[in-house]
Amino acid sequence: MKPVLALVGRPNVGKSTLFNRLTKSRDAIVADFAGLTRDRHYGDGRLGSRHFIVVDTGGFEPDSTTGIVKEMARQTRQAVAEADVVIFVTDLRSGLSAQDADIARYLRQANKRVLLAVNKAEGMQESPLLAEFHELGLGEPHPVSAAHGQGIRSLLEAALEDIPEDDDADDEDEADKPIRLAVAGRPNVGKSTLINTWLGEERLIAFDMPGTTRDAIRVPLERDGRRYELIDTAGLRRKGKVFEAIEKFSVVKTLQAIADASVVVLMVDATQGVSEQDAHIAGYVLESGRAVVIAINKWDAVDAYQREQLARSVETRLAFLKFAPILHISAIRRQGLGPLWKAIADAHASAHCKMPTPVLTRLLHEAVEHQAPKRAGTSRPKLRYAHQGGMNPPVIVIHGNALEHVTDAYKRFLEARFRAHFKLVGTPLRIDMKHST
Ligand code: GDP
Ligand code: GDP
Repeated sequence: MKPVLALVGRPNVGKSTLFNRLTKSRDAIVADFAGLTRDRHYGDGRLGSRHFIVVDTGGFEPDSTTGIVKEMARQTRQAVAEADVVIFVTDLRSGLSAQDADIARYLRQANKRVLLAVNKAEGMQESPLLAEFHELGLGEPHPVSAAHGQGIRSLLEAALEDIPEDDDADDEDEADKPIRLAVAGRPNVGKSTLINTWLGEERLIAFDMPGTTRDAIRVPLERDGRRYELIDTAGLRRKGKVFEAIEKFSVVKTLQAIADASVVVLMVDATQGVSEQDAHIAGYVLESGRAVVIAINKWDAVDAYQREQLARSVETRLAFLKFAPILHISAIRRQGLGPLWKAIADAHASAHCKMPTPVLTRLLHEAVEHQAPKRAGTSRPKLRYAHQGGMNPPVIVIHGNALEHVTDAYKRFLEARFRAHFKLVGTPLRIDMKHST
């Protein structure tokens, strides 16, 4: 599971500047789950090969000294609880304040690993003012400058120091392993209902609960002779011998589960249509490169008119997930679940499809014969051969010359032909161009 770093601190110390700095290192997947969470931002960050999630807990209103902790508890408690490491951000230029002391007291009780970042330290790394921050009782202060990018690397190294690195990288054998399945979606779309239906119907395999809280709970299932692991997005609890999903929506859990999954079931509520929040979650799924199946739930509860409206909202709001199959289900009535399982297995197989070089190259030549790429000025792109550059999601690397002139439209044309040949469904397909030397 990706570790979670939560940024906590009073307003104006530079939390959002630090957030941007930490998430910029990657292609800044910033999911703004507007409407689900207030004043909180989630992003992906990277230090070398290590990926992590950053949560900016935002500002809380410092009305009164008692109010702070209260307000903080309301907005930040969940973020702190879900974090592996809390980065407490303070401000060297404005110095220590009573609010900082309040927050420090809260964090000392929170029983979390806390790092003390003293921001706005550019040009002042050796300042005697830093010593004062020892008073907070949170260990050695780390001078940083979020605005100038100073001290960030060593802060991150310290933050990730004690967290074991993920070792289950996606390898060639992935196709034979259990399919790791995450059900993602807004609160109340029916995730727990579906999960409980699955847990009630499918064969549960005995397993050991993870030893530490950091380990993801994955419940093994078997269906049609295929093994699955259901990743907890819905607060799975053991209730005697059975599992029960107790939904408590958590953005962090959702983001972690998506990152950990090999196939994501993106669940939408048919009675609500596709909302902006659905699109945000979908956007994150896309960015993460995961195979995805769209399950439109509560199909039992909508009439013909609503169904038509819904089809339109899927088309406009989820246009970027065109490759994902759409299944209409009723989790409560157990309808459409067979086709959903099949779509999941197909998406997984597609994401791990093996595409031999001779086949790819032949398909490429056939495509060019059918329709050559457009000439740009005096040069015409020359597409020579193709090979597979990766899987989950599959990547096709095309070698040739003048490839910078290949238009996006032409890439889409190629993609469609590759997809059709390999029957790829539910997985993104990346096409990279590489100049022959
Ligand atoms: P937040 O309210 O904690 O999220 O703080 P912001 O990130 O919005 O920053 C508050 C102010 O501090 C802004 O004017 C920033 O430009 C400034 N700031 C942030 N980081 C630094 C820094 O490293 N050095 C200096 N001098 N200013 C900073
Ligand atoms: P979650 O927050 O996404 O886990 O959603 P829940 O599983 O808790 O479901 C939210 C509400 O939708 C509950 O009242 C469920 O009974 C209801 N619900 C779930 N699935 C269906 C369905 O297929 N049809 C209908 N009509 N209602 C459903």
